[in-house]
Amino acid sequence: MVFDVAIVGAGPAGSACALALAQEAPGIAARTVIIEKARHPREKYCAGAVSAWGVRLLEDLGVGVTVPHVPIEGVRVRYGDRVAAARQRGLGVVLRRHELDAALARSARSAVAEMREEERVIGLAREGELFRIETTRSSLRARVVVAADGAGSAVRRLAGFREPRRKAHLYVLETPPGAGEEPDGLMTFDLTCVAAGVEGYYWDFPTVIDGEPAYSRGIYHLNSRPPAVRPAPALKEVLRSFLAHRGWDLDRLRLKAFAERGWAGAAEIARPGVLLAGEAAGVDPITGEGIAHALAFGVIAARTVADGFARGDLAFAQYLRRVRRATVGRHLGQAALLAPHVYGTRAVRWASFLVSDPTALEAGVLWYRGERLGAWRKARLVTRAVRHLLFGSSLWRLDSGGPRRRAIGP
Ligand SMILES: Cc1cc2nc3c(=O)[nH]c(=O)nc-3n(C[C@H](O)[C@H](O)[C@H](O)COP(=O)(O)OP(=O)(O)OC[C@H]3O[C@@H](n4cnc5c(N)ncnc54)[C@H](O)[C@@H]3O)c2cc1C
Repeated sequence: MVFDVAIVGAGPAGSACALALAQEAPGIAARTVIIEKARHPREKYCAGAVSAWGVRLLEDLGVGVTVPHVPIEGVRVRYGDRVAAARQRGLGVVLRRHELDAALARSARSAVAEMREEERVIGLAREGELFRIETTRSSLRARVVVAADGAGSAVRRLAGFREPRRKAHLYVLETPPGAGEEPDGLMTFDLTCVAAGVEGYYWDFPTVIDGEPAYSRGIYHLNSRPPAVRPAPALKEVLRSFLAHRGWDLDRLRLKAFAERGWAGAAEIARPGVLLAGEAAGVDPITGEGIAHALAFGVIAARTVADGFARGDLAFAQYLRRVRRATVGRHLGQAALLAPHVYGTRAVRWASFLVSDPTALEAGVLWYRGERLGAWRKARLVTRAVRHLLFGSSLWRLDSGGPRRRAIGP
């Protein structure tokens, strides 16, 4: 069995790659195989927030958002007892991943020669111009391998790419709305936990489960520094206190822990014949977001592959440059640059800036949508951020102890 392309993983990155290949180079798509270790609809724990940018990508791929979802109509940010909200229609959707991924995979299946489910890739070896790919059920050969196999990417490891030293940590769960909690279409990011040493946020996202309103809740921690530099926060205990504040007892809920690979600015994402796409390459280190990014990576990987075959050059030396020039690369690059600052020693002041200055939240919303901020807005934002970080605001008293851990009250 010899294929032109083997796409490993049928999540958003893999399915988007298959669909974009069918659009860009149908001949190559007809000689492409997708290998997926699970069978759709497969379980996928995720908060399921897809920004407007991701929704546009789904539409461009001819899939759109056909699964049950809640439209996002704005963002609410909390820090201590301060709350700021920005309403904006069409900010994105919250959906359930097993439903989205199954719909995407269904379309992807008909776009390529073959989709093999319940086959896990366990081996990869170069044989001249080809790769020999071993799965738990079979062996096949391909000229190009697209690693779209997510956070634990086996292909990434088998192809010899270096892993980042540290991965982000998340806990996620779902509940019905709490007493008195009216879903209002806003996604809530609670940054109060940065005062407890969490490099991230607690979230409440409205979602829909079997037609009933529900909430995805959880906590994200970038985990950028070794414990010797900064003691790790007791993430589960911080989550417990936030849930308790909302009337939920963590011990009675089904909780799942996950790791995420954050995007590193100078990352290696291609080798001759191999491309990393989606979370195999990296996600937004500030938010932990990666669905829109995975879709975008899939499309760029497909274009790079099509181009490579057309030029007879499968070294893919231009892939990183293509990614960096696109919205996804700009977004990830900015996030990688900003993350050490917003979650660094001045994390508390950044959080207070976001809730106290409307310019900051407005820019955050635009950024979430994948839009450019423009020179004027950027200059204004930087000036106000510097002023806030240096001279503070009335919230200064909250962080007078610096970034050390403190008791938190969500
Ligand atoms: C708790 C949590 C909450 C999140 N919330 C959000 C959110 O609200 N919004 C957002 O944008 N992002 C969110 N993310 C990130 C998002 O889930 C990922 O970035 C996204 O799934 C990446 O897509 P992908 O296609 O690269 O990888 P995946 O979706 O992980 O897909 C990889 C696929 O590869 C398959 N696979 C893995 N190994 C093999 C193998 N060896 N052989 C064959 N197949 C294999 C897997 O079964 C899977 O189907 C969240 C992540 C977590 C953990």
